[in-house]
Amino acid sequence: MEIKPIASSSKGNAYLVSDGMTTILLECGLPFKELKHRTKFVVPSQIDACLVSHSHNDHAKSLKDMLDAGVDCYALKETFEAKGVAAHHMAKSIKFNNPYYLKTMLIIPLEMMHDVPCVGFMIASRKTGERMLFATDTYLIKAAPVGLTHIMIEANYDVDLVEDDALKNRLFKSHMGIDTTIDYLKSINLSNVQQIYLMHLSSRHSNEAEFKKRVQAATGKIVVVCEE
Ligand SMILES: [Zn+2]
Ligand SMILES: [Zn+2]
Repeated sequence: MEIKPIASSSKGNAYLVSDGMTTILLECGLPFKELKHRTKFVVPSQIDACLVSHSHNDHAKSLKDMLDAGVDCYALKETFEAKGVAAHHMAKSIKFNNPYYLKTMLIIPLEMMHDVPCVGFMIASRKTGERMLFATDTYLIKAAPVGLTHIMIEANYDVDLVEDDALKNRLFKSHMGIDTTIDYLKSINLSNVQQIYLMHLSSRHSNEAEFKKRVQAATGKIVVVCEE
């Protein structure tokens, strides 16, 4: 599985994932022009589909442009509705736990816990046998997929770096803090995992080097922090 983080923060998220046969874009939370430039024009012509977790602009900003460019876009019905594109002929609504195939990839939509309807993905390649979990904008992950080889997971904040109580309460109900990220990783079977990607770090409430060190120490795996 080749994973290329394009952008990862509350200013924008986009990740290219390929198994050599199928290439997908996870999230399209950048202006369309920037998305094309930053991917060296892999977007939109060389991708098989775009998967979007939820309607917030840091994940879905270019959803209408992607649809208009003729890209198959997969998201929850609520996400398409929130962006006003539910009737678009390229919009494919997905449901939690209803798997579907994108060429060589089997995708299982997983329920995420955010402040709007949000979906994560288990992505299994029939070409390579690899299995990846993609989970962001969620204060909790209920699913415990087995046989994972790659994990892309949110580590938004360190509670000790958040001073404002109102913000703290909002974060508790919308994003995953590093303590929860580590607890989750320790709760699932990591024996086949090769790499863990940390996503969506807050510029104000996280510490990149420290997060990397902590996750490495807790899991013994290679940890990559996705750059803004
Ligand atoms: Zn976000
Ligand atoms: Zn969000």
